[in-house]
Amino acid sequence: MKYDIIIIGGAFAGLSAAIYSSRQGMKTLVVTKDIGGQGLLTTDIQNYPGFDSTSGFDLASKFQSQAQLYGTEFVYDEIRQVGEENGHFVLKGVEEKYESDALILAFGKTPRDLGCKGEEKFKGRGVSYCSICDGPLFRKKDVLVAGAGDHALQAALYLGTVASNVYVTQKGNRISGSEEMIAEAKSLDNVKFIYESEVDEILGDKTVNAVSLKKKSGPNEELPVKAVFVEMGYIAKTEMLKGFVDMNKENEVIIDMNGNTSRTGVFAAGDVTNIPYKQAVISAGQGSVAALSAINYVHKKRGMGSVKSDWKFVNLEKNKKVSA
Ligand SMILES: Cc1cc2nc3c(=O)[nH]c(=O)nc-3n(C[C@H](O)[C@H](O)[C@H](O)COP(=O)(O)OP(=O)(O)OC[C@H]3O[C@@H](n4cnc5c(N)ncnc54)[C@H](O)[C@@H]3O)c2cc1C
Repeated sequence: MKYDIIIIGGAFAGLSAAIYSSRQGMKTLVVTKDIGGQGLLTTDIQNYPGFDSTSGFDLASKFQSQAQLYGTEFVYDEIRQVGEENGHFVLKGVEEKYESDALILAFGKTPRDLGCKGEEKFKGRGVSYCSICDGPLFRKKDVLVAGAGDHALQAALYLGTVASNVYVTQKGNRISGSEEMIAEAKSLDNVKFIYESEVDEILGDKTVNAVSLKKKSGPNEELPVKAVFVEMGYIAKTEMLKGFVDMNKENEVIIDMNGNTSRTGVFAAGDVTNIPYKQAVISAGQGSVAALSAINYVHKKRGMGSVKSDWKFVNLEKNKKVSA
């Protein structure tokens, strides 16, 4: 089926874009791997206007129901390829192929891989990229945090409250991170730093049961653990966009103030773009900008007038079946 606007990504940028797009009567599809994106990694957002404190999951769920109220459709799939054929955009996901007149890229950032042997094999089977989401699965077990700086320390601090022992590898002979976080981590008896070492291989059978650590000197050492938490920060995984839209050296999609990319009809918003200050409210704001630009693009293509703002009365009664 062909859509007016397809949005890749179902977090703050994508969902906000969906609200604007479907509310203006565009046939809108959100293709996403999840609802909430990075927001799912935090249970306490304190700087989203209108909410003293909310979890990323609750906030994103509210965005999603609002988008559904106006008729946005959702598909859970991972887009692997994007292209343009005969004046419309064609997306290939793992499950399906999708087509639209305009495209909004809102697929944010993804955790950076560790890049060691065994990582791919044990993803979801002991290798995790979200300590808050998966930490409770390893209650009273020994786990390892592989990463750097405050990302790794934050994970270690949280895991210290659930796991039995939390090992944290450090490439050098000192702990990397902010002074405050280092002091907090050092104060926990069950958080143990392993210096001058890095994970060479993740070992196991069906699930993780050990890591092989490469030491600065001497042979590898095996350490029994039930989980490896990879905390290497986040990157824009935009390989599929190479040659399709312009990107900067951080592989972020370059946009202008209207959310336009270098390709006509393709817009972008949120953490996947080159706009600074990666925050939920900024992603949401950019999502609305990208949607308004996409709507105007579709209108122009069809010889219709442009939308100056989104002030519009919508009879929600008409859409009740969608939100039910
Ligand atoms: C631990 C943590 C705490 C944070 N705390 C705060 C905070 O307190 N306040 C704040 O404002 N911000 C906070 N942030 C930042 C905020 O979460 C991000 O700025 C925001 O989530 C970015 O939203 P986004 O929609 O641009 O992208 P993301 O949240 O990165 O979401 C991307 C979406 O795209 C989907 N996706 C990715 N690739 C594909 C694909 N190929 N095909 C289909 N779908 C795909 C994902 O499943 C996801 O739904 C925090 C981030 C983290 C990691």
